[in-house]
Amino acid sequence: MGEFELIRRYFLPLSKAGAGITLGIGDDCALLELGADEQLAVSIDTAVAGVHFPRDAEPGAIARRTLRTALSDLAAAGAEPLGFTLALTLPDADETWLTAFAQGLAIDADAYACPLIGGDTTRGPLTISVQVHGRVPKGRMLARRGATPGDHVLVSGSLGDARAALDVLKTPEAAPALLERYWLPEPRLSLGVALRGLASAAIDISDGLLADLGHIAEASGVAIQIHAEALPLSQALRTATGAASALEYALGGGDDYELAVCVPASQAAAARREAARLGNPLTLIGEVMTGSGVRCLDAQGQALGLAGQGFQHFGVSP
Ligand code: ADP
Ligand code: MG
Repeated sequence: MGEFELIRRYFLPLSKAGAGITLGIGDDCALLELGADEQLAVSIDTAVAGVHFPRDAEPGAIARRTLRTALSDLAAAGAEPLGFTLALTLPDADETWLTAFAQGLAIDADAYACPLIGGDTTRGPLTISVQVHGRVPKGRMLARRGATPGDHVLVSGSLGDARAALDVLKTPEAAPALLERYWLPEPRLSLGVALRGLASAAIDISDGLLADLGHIAEASGVAIQIHAEALPLSQALRTATGAASALEYALGGGDDYELAVCVPASQAAAARREAARLGNPLTLIGEVMTGSGVRCLDAQGQALGLAGQGFQHFGVSP
């Protein structure tokens, strides 16, 4: 099977003309339409076998996770999906693998109204790049800069599950709830849209809560203080790892793809109401202050020592 036959068989069926797409797969460029009062938000993510996912993982799961993590960047920006491109590097044209991969991709492309509009197919070590394109009303993208002292800091969902799942993956008694959080992260797209005009800054949690809040603090020129006992931890995580490890996973473990947002105190109630209405409740975890950096206080108000040793095992890839 040649390159063009492969594209025609597995990826052309995913191409759809739709709202905002004049031309999808098959030409030199895809052609997207934006309203006069809209801007294009673009983000690309690459997943490498053996680095970002286990080499022998189920291909449909790899496809879905890669698309969902890319869509999470649109969610953090408050953008709505238009379509995505796929740069696929394959060791060989394995038909069973490609069938399952394309099926997984089709499920989530449909679920998130984000059709495949083009791509590139090459031979080499298994690597998947997904570039998502989204629309956002002019001047209303949620950015990392914009947090102001006095703002509340809130997160969606619960934290730490996805990264704990990687350790669970190594044990026979895998906790299904944690594994699902790893393989099927939920891009908080409607929450991102609802927070336009309410949040002062936003990010999706891919590197870990502390690291990602650090990005907001740096971009905004502020300090962020959070409270350990306020962090939303799932029962599955507490049961699988114990309370102390659960906190470490929540602070340092990435891959959750929840949103962390800063909201002016005057808008916090409205933001939480909107989030609850969407079924994506936000939890208040801290506040924005003058200064720099991120610190986490324990129940006694003492800053936790977070540097060095404690988080090294998160540096290990799956
Ligand atoms: P070009 O040589 O002009 O870059 P290609 O031969 O790489 O074009 O691709 C032919 C068409 O198939 C293009 O429209 C391209 O976007 C699409 N395409 C190639 N690979 C993929 C893929 N993995 N998924 C979706 N579309 C693809
Ligand atoms: Mg090409």
